[in-house]
Amino acid sequence: MSECEYEGCEEPALRDSEHCIFHEPNKSGLAAKGFYKLIRQEAREPEGENAEIDENNRLRHWEDFGSQEHRRWVFEKDINWKGYCFPSVPDDSTQPTDFRNKAEVMISFVLAEFKESVDFTDVKFEESKEFRWTKFKGRVFFDAAHFKNFVSFRDVDFFRDTSFVKTHFEGKVDWTGAKFLKGASFKRTQFEGDVWFIGVKFHRIVYMKNTEFGDGELIVGANKFENPRHGESFYRKVRKKFENDGNRDEADKWFRHEMIMKRRQLKSYNPRKWFSYLVDFITGYGTSWSKVIGSWIVVIFGYGLAYAYFNGLTATMESVNISKSLTWTLQPPFILCDWAGLLKNFYFSTVTFTTLGYGDIAPDGLVWQLVAGSESVIGGILMATLVLVFGRKFMR
Ligand SMILES: [Zn+2]
Repeated sequence: MSECEYEGCEEPALRDSEHCIFHEPNKSGLAAKGFYKLIRQEAREPEGENAEIDENNRLRHWEDFGSQEHRRWVFEKDINWKGYCFPSVPDDSTQPTDFRNKAEVMISFVLAEFKESVDFTDVKFEESKEFRWTKFKGRVFFDAAHFKNFVSFRDVDFFRDTSFVKTHFEGKVDWTGAKFLKGASFKRTQFEGDVWFIGVKFHRIVYMKNTEFGDGELIVGANKFENPRHGESFYRKVRKKFENDGNRDEADKWFRHEMIMKRRQLKSYNPRKWFSYLVDFITGYGTSWSKVIGSWIVVIFGYGLAYAYFNGLTATMESVNISKSLTWTLQPPFILCDWAGLLKNFYFSTVTFTTLGYGDIAPDGLVWQLVAGSESVIGGILMATLVLVFGRKFMR
């Protein structure tokens, strides 16, 4: 009997094959069943623990699996499954087998627990895989692994460093609710299908160097980063993916997240932080022209109210009467209003904001001249800002 050709493997090769049962890429139905039987031998079922009940009361999720009973597997020792081929199992009852059906043949990693490190380097998964609620307590390597189908890492906890370097995902990958308590590397990871990063918690660094996104949809939302520096690089990667797709609205959205993460890295006494807040408030980091229009309205309205309330304006012509446009009283309605007079304050505010300065109404005294001057400066800047944001949004 010859030895398996896979590097470092000392198992005997299968008949008519160069590989052992673990590394054989095209297993027969029988070999596939045998393979899973061996895999299951490395695990144990937790004693006295019915998988229906979990310490986190996960019972309510059972209907997701359409099963009353679900075996939970625990792997106590280091797992070294380098290069293993996880086959799909034909769902037929004609084959002689110790197992009643497919579900019993396969091993499910749902709720599984790996207590030590796991080496899935170069592993091939032919069927879709659910690592749902799996706990990886040791280091995890999926380097150069190949998932030919859908894979779910929903609510998986990665306790140690996790590596997906050059991992190839042909189908959809779902990371919803996953927690990376240490570093996560997606260096040169290839995502061909849809990728979901929703509510993922990254406690440490996340490497996204040369991560490749294919034509699938990238769905990102509500992710949390312990360190905003890692968030910044994550969102930059997301932004670039949408830029490459020509999806500018999404690119703008994640650009703003990128900038917020950048801002969070600044100390609160750093004036750049406050300037950054201001730019976000007024323009959404150059992505929102409606925010700019909104700030126009706020400034014009705010200055107008100040002129009216403090009687800061005076008419330069006999025909114009703006004095005492607002009077406050102690009885309801508390405010006596000369509407025409009030509107003239807003008219003046608009004319000053837009730096038109007709001169029919003028600020009353030095203080109000300075106030009106400041409004003109702000108005000039905000008008130029609108042009910039418009140009960026619609003319590139
Ligand atoms: Zn082998």
